[in-house]
Amino acid sequence: MPEKVIIIGSGPAAWTAAIYTARAELKPLVFEGAVTEENRLTGTLPLGQLALTTEVENYPGFPAGNLEAYLDDAIARDKRQFMAPHSKEGVSGPELMELIRQQAVNFGTRVVTHDVVQLDFDARPFKLTASDGKTYEALAVIVATGARANYLGLPSEAEYKNRGVSACAVCDGALPRFRNQPLVVVGGGDAAVEEADYLTKFAGKVYLVHRRDELRASKIMARRAIDNPKIEIQWNRTLDEVLGNDADGVTGVRLKSTVGEPDLVLDASGVFLSIGHTPNTAFLEGKLELTEKKYVKWTTPWRTYTSVEGVFAAGDVADDYFRQAVTAAGTGCMAALDAERWLAARE
Ligand code: NAP
Repeated sequence: MPEKVIIIGSGPAAWTAAIYTARAELKPLVFEGAVTEENRLTGTLPLGQLALTTEVENYPGFPAGNLEAYLDDAIARDKRQFMAPHSKEGVSGPELMELIRQQAVNFGTRVVTHDVVQLDFDARPFKLTASDGKTYEALAVIVATGARANYLGLPSEAEYKNRGVSACAVCDGALPRFRNQPLVVVGGGDAAVEEADYLTKFAGKVYLVHRRDELRASKIMARRAIDNPKIEIQWNRTLDEVLGNDADGVTGVRLKSTVGEPDLVLDASGVFLSIGHTPNTAFLEGKLELTEKKYVKWTTPWRTYTSVEGVFAAGDVADDYFRQAVTAAGTGCMAALDAERWLAARE
């Protein structure tokens, strides 16, 4: 018997879709991804991008407070014992993801800790082959494999990730370590300008480091950066090294010039990469219609339909614009309801 619904992914969209489809008695099977060195290096381990962040202060329902007892109570012991100690007020990204996953499991979601490596969407039931070599069949599929923030790939960048290096100003900008400190944003697109502008709420000063002498950002956004007295644009510069130490994390940056100027060293307590995202859609090439930027294309306004009937998409894999945990969870809910209604119409 084919599965009624298979969900591919492991972030807020996937687990929210699982919660809703489980409660609708569709017995979802979730492929949360494999725990492999390759997935670790690409940032695509189970539980997704949120598992790579620290505090999550903008997800509704988690005002600051000590969650220790609740986490001990809510999360199954076999998972809880491997989690980092709860040391912060409020929920952390990894804790939030374990909670959402647990909620899905509590309603009967079954989980396979493997990647989906091959798809056949040409005929129904759809066929999905996983990295365990097994082939699974499904009447409906929800794709929620997310996206990953691009990093430059510098060793020093990896060394200070979560200790001052971040790829999400909205997630991390308000942390105490950044307050009234100089910060660096790398990139020249709308997102970089928006992040730099946002960070000026907290930072003493923000250096926007761009590799050319002209921003890619739209004129109106570029003007926002140029007019903001707390933003200093470092034109024609690339990040060469993140400077820091074990005690303080990031303390500065070394910038290279793209036009032959000498290196520049700046003090900074944080470095925010804003050089684009890559959706996790390589395995979908040729199977689903993708946008120019390789995100899954939603084909109908206010629906999570894709180019293949019976295949739905949710979360950052189809969203290069909002990219928030709560919007991913929201579209996960939409995909579950779309799938449920689509299946019901065919019974
Ligand atoms: P983007 O427009 O692709 O810009 C990426 C930026 O990163 C570019 O300036 C690029 O430099 C730079 N970059 C890429 N790789 C780099 C590298 N290896 N080293 C140094 N710099 C590098 O991406 P985005 O800013 O994330 O925006 C994505 C989409 O969302 C866009 O369509 C954007 O308009 C939209 N968005 C809109 C808003 C808004 O309207 N409020 C806010 C955020 C995002 P080059 O310019 O030299 O290529």
